[in-house]
Amino acid sequence: TAKRDGENLVRRVDPAMLAAFRERLDLERAFRAALAQDLIRPHYQPLIRLETGDIRGFEALARWTMADGTAIPPSVFIPLAEENGLITELSERLLRRACLDAQGWPKEVFLTFNLSPLQFSDPLLGLRIVQILGETGMPPSRLEIEMTESAIVKDFEGAVKTIRQLQGSGIRVALDDFGTGFSSLSQLALIPFDKIKIDRSFTSSCRDNAKQSSMVRSIIGLGHGIGVATLAEGIENAAQFELLRAMGCEYGQGFLFARPMPPEEVAGYLGLASVERLPLSA
Ligand code: C2E
Ligand code: MG
Ligand code: MG
Ligand code: MG
Repeated sequence: TAKRDGENLVRRVDPAMLAAFRERLDLERAFRAALAQDLIRPHYQPLIRLETGDIRGFEALARWTMADGTAIPPSVFIPLAEENGLITELSERLLRRACLDAQGWPKEVFLTFNLSPLQFSDPLLGLRIVQILGETGMPPSRLEIEMTESAIVKDFEGAVKTIRQLQGSGIRVALDDFGTGFSSLSQLALIPFDKIKIDRSFTSSCRDNAKQSSMVRSIIGLGHGIGVATLAEGIENAAQFELLRAMGCEYGQGFLFARPMPPEEVAGYLGLASVERLPLSA
């Protein structure tokens, strides 16, 4: 009614909204400080060849632990960085750090790195990545970039250009979280991905859900059909591992093998005496 609308006009600012706003400002400030102090660092989760159990690579996953020990998950600070325009800076710092960490691993162990959908519209992205590889001495053949379907949905042309640039420089490109986005198969068919990562939601239900398991089988078959390797995300138990291996899925990743670990634990995981840590020059 008109009276109610009038009441709304003079309503005070909602205290809950104000609190949320303050909290967001605090987080924003803390994020900028953490970025400046280089406190957001990659951790690493192994990618396993299912047939042999070999460690083929590690995915860099960003971690931010505040001074009081509170861990802020990437699902919070990545969107924050996307909104406040700091995603490029964060991403470049993380990639530089990850390349230096990877220098201490055996040569055949590769690094996979996530980029935000927004970044694929940046015409300079490919160039900057190649620059970071040059600075850190990381061969492009050891790097795989992960992108989600939303990058394709947001800006198909831009994404395709960037993917071509990356691949032209010898960097591989993987499609992350496959099956959760809204890209069309006709669009996907035009992009020569090097790997398809099957989203965790399929892996977790493929043991006891016949429909999900035939979806997974089809995705692996699709990969084989077009000559692209598949990786199952979120393998948490031996039953899922066995089933996916039997289905012919090449790679797997998940808590069954290892959780993301800090760089200093990678050496022990790889069974090496120590991993040389390279100093990061500013
Ligand atoms: P993602 O790229 O799909 O990474 C896999 C996520 O699944 C990681 O969560 C990982 O810890 C988690 N995971 C791995 N195995 C299992 C499992 O067996 N069970 C369960 N329940 N989870 C598992 P995390 O580290 O929280 O990262 C979440 C998302 O944040 C990532 O999803 C990625 O999209 C994004 N992200 C992380 N680091 C970066 C980064 O440096 N840059 C960008 N742009 N995005 C990042
Ligand atoms: Mg990923
Ligand atoms: Mg994923
Ligand atoms: Mg994911």
